[in-house]
Amino acid sequence: MGKATGFMEFERKTIANRDPLERVKDWNEIHEDFDAEKVQTQGSRCMDCGTPYCHTGMSLANMASGCPVNNLIPEFNDLVYRGKWHDAYLRLAKTNNFPEFTGRVCPAPCEGSCVLGLIEPAVTIKDIECSIIDKAWNEGWVKPQPPEERTGKKVAVVGSGPAGLAAADQLNKAGHLVTLFERADRPGGLLMYGIPNMKLEKQVVTRRVQLMQAEGIILECGIEIGVDISSKQLMEDFDSVVLCCGATKPRDLPIEGRELNNIRYAMEFLGPNTKELWDIKDGKSEQFSELAKGKNVVIIGGGDTGTDCVGTSLRHGCKSVVQLEIMPKPPIERAANNPWPEWPKTYKMDYGTVKKKPKRFRVKTHVNTSSAPAVSLAMQMATSRRFTSTTSSGPATTAASYLKRSKVAHACSKPTLSCSQWASSDPKQPSPKNSASISTPAPMCKLNTASLTLASKVSLQQATCAVVSP
Ligand SMILES: Cc1cc2nc3c(=O)[nH]c(=O)nc-3n(C[C@H](O)[C@H](O)[C@H](O)COP(=O)(O)OP(=O)(O)OC[C@H]3O[C@@H](n4cnc5c(N)ncnc54)[C@H](O)[C@@H]3O)c2cc1C
Ligand code: SF4
Repeated sequence: MGKATGFMEFERKTIANRDPLERVKDWNEIHEDFDAEKVQTQGSRCMDCGTPYCHTGMSLANMASGCPVNNLIPEFNDLVYRGKWHDAYLRLAKTNNFPEFTGRVCPAPCEGSCVLGLIEPAVTIKDIECSIIDKAWNEGWVKPQPPEERTGKKVAVVGSGPAGLAAADQLNKAGHLVTLFERADRPGGLLMYGIPNMKLEKQVVTRRVQLMQAEGIILECGIEIGVDISSKQLMEDFDSVVLCCGATKPRDLPIEGRELNNIRYAMEFLGPNTKELWDIKDGKSEQFSELAKGKNVVIIGGGDTGTDCVGTSLRHGCKSVVQLEIMPKPPIERAANNPWPEWPKTYKMDYGTVKKKPKRFRVKTHVNTSSAPAVSLAMQMATSRRFTSTTSSGPATTAASYLKRSKVAHACSKPTLSCSQWASSDPKQPSPKNSASISTPAPMCKLNTASLTLASKVSLQQATCAVVSP
């Protein structure tokens, strides 16, 4: 333990994100660069616990608790505090194939289970992790390390999302000759065409993939197994095949108005957006559709994917955004039935939800303020098999009647409604029943554009861990 009194002397301070009103004007990452000195101070808050729950990687109450890839957190915290950044990088690289991904987009169950969290705000583990790997790349410490010997075995990995990348990396390190097949034009799966650029810069993904190629992994993009190459052929050509195909099938929401125009699944909205951005950057295209420009957008689903749709709509220059959430507003502090070290089910303001209300947008999730009545909604499933909505302080009401009286609905003119939805393939994740319906009266159909996102999905950490873990 570097500084015995660090947690008493210093308050938790996370690395600031760029100003919301500034960052909404571009597609660059929202994160500010780290300040090494400040991160070292945060590292000193770690108590180097005898039983450090931060790295346990357990499942408690069906939720991840502690780091799922068992990062050696107390060790790298201490090394960072002492300014031994290179050693910290070596510790981090022992357990985590891609800390630059997890350091940016992991939900950080490590912080939820940090022992310091019992009495004080947790150590800023995620920031420390991201700073270590960013410094390592900046300093040129991350270099290709091809295996010294090859086993002579050939392995095909199908799908280049985080699961496929991690599987390929591990197999390559073990000396097998790995070919990574990806049906999309660029590698990364949802790291590339799901999570938007402002949350995870795509250069960060391609940089890692290029390093893996330099280590001997063969990447074949634009090849769909089962279409371009048969599974039989694949089995004949390779000693082993690993399937890491993700969950591409969306779940529909058969509600009144679903047949109207401009209703999209989240991935039909987010994926092409990133593709267009990067096609333009690479000089392959000049087209940028900005689908939500000037539209009133409704996003159904209050999770990460919904937030990504909010952030994307704002950057398109939408007229307004309403985000609907099925769950009631979570408490600010842990509830009595959600004790440490469980994942804290508390209210969090995510990056897509701008804090200061820009003039033309009304974006608040779960928050009920008099200035933003149209966007303060939590929806609950009622036994009548209809979604009912509850504002955080008001009485229960149906989503439809809520929308009917909302300023957004009244402001719209064109009779189109757009929804987008993303579904989970993870049977362990509870998900809203798609048989439920929103009672949708005519005024809702007057919404110009809506985006529907039902975002129950496997977390990045879980997906990577599931494959990396022996
Ligand atoms: C919008 C969005 C935001 C998210 N944000 C976060 C976040 O902030 N933090 C987090 O932890 N998680 C987040 N997630 C979840 C996370 O992205 C996924 O859990 C993770 O990407 C799953 O990894 P995977 O490798 O299993 O699948 P995927 O990332 O889906 O990759 C599967 C790949 O397989 C390819 N493929 C499929 N079939 C074939 C075939 N027949 N031939 C060739 N290739 C094929 C697909 O094209 C795809 O590239 C988000 C998900 C979405 C949709
Ligand atoms: S639980 Fe928190 S305080 Fe304890 S070792 Fe882990 S990061 Fe440090």
